[in-house]
Amino acid sequence: MELRIIFSFILLLEGGLSFENRKPNIAIIGGGIGGASSSHFLTELFQSNLNIDLYEAKTIGGRLATVQIDENEFEAGGAIIHPQNKYMQEFVKLLGLEHRTSTDGNKVGIWNGNEFVFEESNWEVISFAKLLYRYGIEPFSLNRLVQSILNDFAKIYDLQDAGKSFENVTGLLSAMNNGFPKLLQTSIKDYLLNLGYSDQMIDELVKSTLVVNYGQDTTVHSFLGAVSIAGAGFNLWSVKGGNKKVPEHLIYRNKNINIIPSYVVKIINAPKENGRQSYEVHYHNKDSTIIMKSVYDIVIVATPLTSDQQYPITFEGFPNNDFHGAEKYHRTIATFVKAGLKPYYFGSAEEIDTILSCEPNKTIVSSVGRLNSIEGSMKNSKVWKIFSNAPLRSGVLNEMFSNIDEIKEISWKAYPEYSTYVHDAKFKLHNTLYHVNAIEWAASAMEMSAISGRNVAILAHKDFSEKFYYNEINKMQTTVPANTPSIEL
Ligand SMILES: Cc1cc2nc3c(=O)[nH]c(=O)nc-3n(C[C@H](O)[C@H](O)[C@H](O)COP(=O)(O)OP(=O)(O)OC[C@H]3O[C@@H](n4cnc5c(N)ncnc54)[C@H](O)[C@@H]3O)c2cc1C
Repeated sequence: MELRIIFSFILLLEGGLSFENRKPNIAIIGGGIGGASSSHFLTELFQSNLNIDLYEAKTIGGRLATVQIDENEFEAGGAIIHPQNKYMQEFVKLLGLEHRTSTDGNKVGIWNGNEFVFEESNWEVISFAKLLYRYGIEPFSLNRLVQSILNDFAKIYDLQDAGKSFENVTGLLSAMNNGFPKLLQTSIKDYLLNLGYSDQMIDELVKSTLVVNYGQDTTVHSFLGAVSIAGAGFNLWSVKGGNKKVPEHLIYRNKNINIIPSYVVKIINAPKENGRQSYEVHYHNKDSTIIMKSVYDIVIVATPLTSDQQYPITFEGFPNNDFHGAEKYHRTIATFVKAGLKPYYFGSAEEIDTILSCEPNKTIVSSVGRLNSIEGSMKNSKVWKIFSNAPLRSGVLNEMFSNIDEIKEISWKAYPEYSTYVHDAKFKLHNTLYHVNAIEWAASAMEMSAISGRNVAILAHKDFSEKFYYNEINKMQTTVPANTPSIEL
């Protein structure tokens, strides 16, 4: 190593150069929990020496949103958070928000279109006995299996604390457990059958979690299957006042963020003459037809890139301009109804709080659930959320409900259409261009976006630091006087 390189490093260490002198200009495209998490961890890593332009086409929060029925608001998108979701827990604490327990005293039934194949009782001990009677000890060993997957999953937190980052989803999953990438290639049905679980338990219990959580069935890969089963566990919670408060507060309270209420249409790879990486971001102001552009050192795409999105982004000047792939996002319709439930439509004499379908082709709906408001109030509320894969005709609603006061419908491009097709989604698309939503091909959930947001922040910080120091050292080398002795070590 040459002495002048060491000399340059000493200058750097002494603070001769720092991010104070060279703040990165960063574009984050998307103000959901993924973009919010990226902005939070980037600000931490760059110690607030950074400029962030955050582009949002619609509303900060993205798929975390609420709907108003009467005087009250209800979760309309991402609703349930697992107790072991560390980042969501930490964000809530950091932002001074509160938990809301969302499933307390909820009576659940699994419906096949004719009858409830399993129905909880008002008495916990009777529910337990019914579960044992129908499925034996399988639900309990399934719970242990999922818990062991969750324990491995949690290794990501220590790895990220230690500054580890991953360029693709397979790398991230392997770091948790080197068997995890294989889970992406096996359907949850085959995976559980191979472990000796019965068709009945898989086709009823496991399938009903996938139908309600992802609008899909047991043909999805087994990593998603495990996440879905975990999402039907105990002690689930939501954020009081709405889950969207987390991205809202992370973004609005960050002084380094400039929000640009526009949609990005194109990203161009436009390296500068000095060789430094830069990207042009072209965007449409919401209210005008004029296209504007800005230039950045780092671009973080925090929205899905499939070609079926409402605001698709095109790429220019990259070795391969197609970052979209052939995959699609699943359409889920959330219908909100203020009405009385007709239990006999579902083959039951009593009202039930949550109805999960295990035969969605037959039942038309994926689930029907009684909602509490985002403030946690309204026990025995008359507001219901129905998930389905297509809009519901009013005839169907009239068959299921009486005295309908209000109906609202939200159509979501909700989560990927999953299979066991191996798609090695990349977090790092190009030198300093990253994609948070690559993680959704493993599983779509708030915590997954939060983890991915931190992963791309670590990647971006590392890549930028290396490039920046490298460029600055090169510059210094060229300005070192020619007669400075250069000693080979
Ligand atoms: C109905 C439903 C139920 C769900 N239930 C749960 C649940 O119970 N628990 C759970 O953990 N997860 C759940 N999820 C999944 C969870 O909501 C998502 O995984 C998570 O919110 C995704 O966050 P994100 O920031 O990655 O993406 P998004 O929230 O989609 O954010 C992307 C943002 O980018 C903006 N945008 C898009 N294109 C452009 C553009 N070209 N220019 C500028 N801005 C753009 C969008 O407007 C959006 O605000 C659910 C999702 C849905 C839809």
